[in-house]
Amino acid sequence: MLLLLAEAISALAFIEDVRCKFPAIRSPRHDCQRKMEDLSFIPDILSGPLDVYRNTASFNWKRLKLSLEGDLELLKLKYKIWHILERDPLFAHNQVTPSVEEQKRITQLQLKKINEYKFVTKEIFNSSYSKRTRAIMTINEAVQSLNPSVSVKMAIGIYLFSNALLSLGTERHHKFYEATILNREILASFALTEIAHGSDARLMRTTATYDATRREFVVHTPDFEAAKCWVGNLGRTCTHTLLFAQLIMPDGTNHGLHGFVVPIRDPDTLETYPGLVVGDMGEKIGVNGIDNGFIMFNQYRIPRENLLNRAADVTEEGQYVSSFSDPSKILGAALENLSAGRIGIMQESCHSLASAVSIAVRYAATRTQFGEQDNEIPLIEYDLHQWRLFGYVAAAVVFRIYIERFAQVYLNIVEKSHMGENVDNLSEAVSEIHAMVSCSKPLLTWTTMEAAQQCREACGGHGYLKSANLGDIRSNHEPTVTYEGDNNVLQQQAGNWLLRQYEAARGGANLDSPLNTVAFLRNHTTIAKISFTATNTAQLKTTQFIMSTYKWLICYLLKQTYEKYEALLAKGLTKFQAKNKSQVYRWRNLTKAYSEYLALMFTLESIEKKEETLQPVLKKLFTLYGLWSLDRHLVELYQGGYCVGEEPARLLREAVMELCGDLKSEVVSVVDALAPTDFVLNSVLAKSDGRLYQNLQKALVGHPGTFSRASWWRQVVPSAKL
Ligand SMILES: Cc1cc2nc3c(=O)[nH]c(=O)nc-3n(C[C@H](O)[C@H](O)[C@H](O)COP(=O)(O)OP(=O)(O)OC[C@H]3O[C@@H](n4cnc5c(N)ncnc54)[C@H](O)[C@@H]3O)c2cc1C
Repeated sequence: MLLLLAEAISALAFIEDVRCKFPAIRSPRHDCQRKMEDLSFIPDILSGPLDVYRNTASFNWKRLKLSLEGDLELLKLKYKIWHILERDPLFAHNQVTPSVEEQKRITQLQLKKINEYKFVTKEIFNSSYSKRTRAIMTINEAVQSLNPSVSVKMAIGIYLFSNALLSLGTERHHKFYEATILNREILASFALTEIAHGSDARLMRTTATYDATRREFVVHTPDFEAAKCWVGNLGRTCTHTLLFAQLIMPDGTNHGLHGFVVPIRDPDTLETYPGLVVGDMGEKIGVNGIDNGFIMFNQYRIPRENLLNRAADVTEEGQYVSSFSDPSKILGAALENLSAGRIGIMQESCHSLASAVSIAVRYAATRTQFGEQDNEIPLIEYDLHQWRLFGYVAAAVVFRIYIERFAQVYLNIVEKSHMGENVDNLSEAVSEIHAMVSCSKPLLTWTTMEAAQQCREACGGHGYLKSANLGDIRSNHEPTVTYEGDNNVLQQQAGNWLLRQYEAARGGANLDSPLNTVAFLRNHTTIAKISFTATNTAQLKTTQFIMSTYKWLICYLLKQTYEKYEALLAKGLTKFQAKNKSQVYRWRNLTKAYSEYLALMFTLESIEKKEETLQPVLKKLFTLYGLWSLDRHLVELYQGGYCVGEEPARLLREAVMELCGDLKSEVVSVVDALAPTDFVLNSVLAKSDGRLYQNLQKALVGHPGTFSRASWWRQVVPSAKL
């Protein structure tokens, strides 16, 4: 009990500590201190069959929606975008999947139209870095839930590129920045991956060799294996690319990968420039609106000034000057720019997850199957169905709150460093954020992937219809587990940072953790001694139980991973070999547990500031997510001796089922708060009016060609009859 109290105190200390260091999260305004905002801009939901479950909710779904968004103006912006795009025929949904080329054409036209709508107003543009970026992220989220291809196109082509110019470039690149973000004359791409090298970026082979006589870089692709590939927007549309190539000096010295702005196409004709071989990657298994491409450079010349020179430069005479002594640090600084992109991916995942669970839950509340004495009951009444879906609903809410808070912390730090303000332990904070992003992107994208599949199955055969939208959600989401850092590779980077902290804690040294996400490691020896003592489910359904169990789990997995790694080194293996041999069941499980802990930590801190009427349901969702996730770590909880005997597992699983049962009365309103408008959700199975079969009938009979004889009928009847 004392330990539980100590845990609670240390959780509070964590919150205070983080607040002091990062004012973005210092004393966030208590939701309940706000006046009741006018939420009439959110359309009301039509009364219908879902009322049975809506009427039992303990809270107002519009208030929960606002709370999950975290900002009234951003929520209004999202609805404004959805309403405008709904009225625009260019954004009408297709009942039949268009050809790949047509998808690319429509996506590019949609992006053009979005540019014309100027959702980034002058006011947004002129606001502070963090306010502007948050607004841009919201625009991206709003567009993503309608057509992920457009948002990816926009995110890479405009925002990732302009962000890179700001963080990697200097004044001389301002013209590219203005042309991209203000005038929309540049559509960019981001060319890192090569045919033979993806995750291992250091060994990429495209070169940019400096020619001092002409003050130019000569970009060259030695062979097909070094062709840049998978580059979004490159296949058909981009005018420029942000290229990562090995910087070679006239004397042959290689300074490693650097970023260059490289013109690709004439913006007036979209013809590629001489010296380039550019192709489209062809049909993919999702996001076919994006023109992913490959490129080979044949001694292609670009001006010296096109090197993004914030960290390193080449003088006109051909002298290399850098503020970093180690080339891998320049690459690190350049790739750190990807953090914002990865946060964007997590925000998008939250939307895909929200849409998937909204469809499955609305369906479960309106679809009946089986029952006693022929009284069929809705699927949502079945324990099995609740267990299959509600953990993902809880994840959707927890992730949304986590990412909203985390993005604020991140943007605040970047803003301060851009303004040259002193940020305590900036480089340590950057490393910690990198570790957090590197394990959170896998957690969110994988969970969304699993959820999309589970939700599809939970809607049975009808879930397999294109018009259910679960198939598109799943296949368009899928590449997020690979791009901007393959999940399995990213997790290893988070593990490296965690092990460094563990080593420091063991040796009594200071932790490099300014955000204090692993502050508890200072007490790792005490934490390692705690064990499961609960005797009933009520004791498990507490924040203290969940957080202290996670701390134990992380300490245990750190010890296991560290000991295995050290033992392998002692046997004579190299660091590289020892790391590889301690991934499975150790490093990987460790980073997964840490990412879940982060989501819970940030969410808990946020929930405590939410308005009172929302707290009960949010706490239930928090608790379900925590216990549902811990259930998947039972092996380690037993293996390390935290749990003994059959009681802990029985109690944990019983608590999960009790929470699922409790949430039945809330969950339809929870998904009302999570779901976008009906137009954006675009699912015949989950319109907010709940009229499942009327909507399905309308869709089936309205489908082009539903009742017509096959146009090819003559080809298949026996020729004798013709
Ligand atoms: C839709 C889409 C869009 C993309 N857009 C872009 C873009 O705009 N620009 C761009 O530059 N790239 C882009 N990419 C490429 C993407 O970033 C890479 O595919 C990604 O970085 C992974 O690299 P890879 O494909 O070479 O995989 P590999 O690195 O070859 O990995 C293959 C598998 O091996 C595993 N693996 C690799 N190393 C290890 C290890 N050390 N230990 C254990 N397992 C390991 C990985 O986990 C993975 O499962 C895109 C990809 C897709 C699918």
